[in-house]
Amino acid sequence: MTALTDFDRVHLWHPYTSMTDPLPAFEVESAAGVRLRLRDGRELIDGMASWWCAIHGYNHPALNCAVEDQLAKMAHVMFGGLTHEPAVRLARTLVDMTPAPLQHVFFADSGSVAVEVAIKMALQFHAAGAGRAGADRLLTIRGGYHGDTFGAMAVCDPVNGMHERFASALPGHFFLDRPAARFGAAVESREIDAAEQMMREHRDRIAAVILEPIVQGAGGMWFYSADYLREIAALCQRHDILLIADEIATGFGRTGRMFACEHAGVVPDLLCLGKALTGGYLTLAATMTTERVAHGVSADGGVLAHGPTFMANPLATAVAAESLRLLQESPWQARVAAIERQLADELGRYAQHPAVADVRVLGAIGVVECRQPVDVARVQQRFVEAGVWLRPFGRLIYLMPPYIIEPADLRRLTDAVALALGD
Ligand SMILES: *Cc1c(COP(=O)(O)O)cnc(C)c1O
Repeated sequence: MTALTDFDRVHLWHPYTSMTDPLPAFEVESAAGVRLRLRDGRELIDGMASWWCAIHGYNHPALNCAVEDQLAKMAHVMFGGLTHEPAVRLARTLVDMTPAPLQHVFFADSGSVAVEVAIKMALQFHAAGAGRAGADRLLTIRGGYHGDTFGAMAVCDPVNGMHERFASALPGHFFLDRPAARFGAAVESREIDAAEQMMREHRDRIAAVILEPIVQGAGGMWFYSADYLREIAALCQRHDILLIADEIATGFGRTGRMFACEHAGVVPDLLCLGKALTGGYLTLAATMTTERVAHGVSADGGVLAHGPTFMANPLATAVAAESLRLLQESPWQARVAAIERQLADELGRYAQHPAVADVRVLGAIGVVECRQPVDVARVQQRFVEAGVWLRPFGRLIYLMPPYIIEPADLRRLTDAVALALGD
């Protein structure tokens, strides 16, 4: 404990912690490549990419340069009535990278806000007369996670999310069971029938389906069948229900495809991006949509009712444009595929361990699901002593390293998982 961590402990909230009995926080002094350097000089190999973000590693010269160059011009200007080159360049890149129908870009300041904006677009589309006037609800699948703001929270998993705490303040949406079929497996017709029945029965109310394609992230790290996604997308089309793909975690190569929707050949009506968008440098997210939705929102002559203060922040958009250039010019497919093979091989060893319920790997994501909740404080301490940074939650120990990680470093991460399985 230092004066700094003492102050931190008393005065600063960390994600999902209590002020009364906080988990310890380690002071990071700097970071480079895949290494976090603690104040006491210890170095940790990063297995989290700072929650899906730092795909190129930390302190990247090209990304540093992009921020510094933009900083010399302007750090920020309002986006009402003004525009700038980094925002336009980034939007152009996103329009080029994503499927052709996605032509319109709204820059939000965090993933949760991008989800709020997508929901708002879908509701306004219907309310403005482009869809069904009474369609004011969403349909989603259990086990999802879409962010911490109220609109997003209302479509998170109703059990492991925060519904209970805020039930009276949240709109009631429609939920389908978490898809049972794993990634790579065929979907059972029973699941699709349930979805179809729900859509048919509540078609008047359902403005859009919102889901995380293929990988449900913070709601349980579950990888589900591409068939399921394909069938849901087809049902949405048949019933004229919009499809919102929340690719905030999965976007930009993490699952082995640039976007997870590609596993199913699906093009959503709305796409939410965030996290890795800036390579982990600054907070930025985007909601993209088709011409039909973008113009439908204003079918009654109105405007899209959203406009954050820091919309399209120049520093953030400049570093995001550079991050996407780096990604596209890198051999990311080969890197992610190599990480996938190594994770499958090395985490696969734990599948028979008595404390382990399941091991699953997709792209640069590895998950070891334990039978019992992980004692985070104790396990975290062990990981740090072993020189790795992994942050378990619930029963899950998961790895999603920067794409640039070397096999020897990844090996240290997968070896360290054993420390959480002993007693
Ligand atoms: C992290 C995440 C969000 C929320 O993003 P924030 O930037 O934390 O607001 C939304 N959806 C998914 C799928 C996420 O993984």
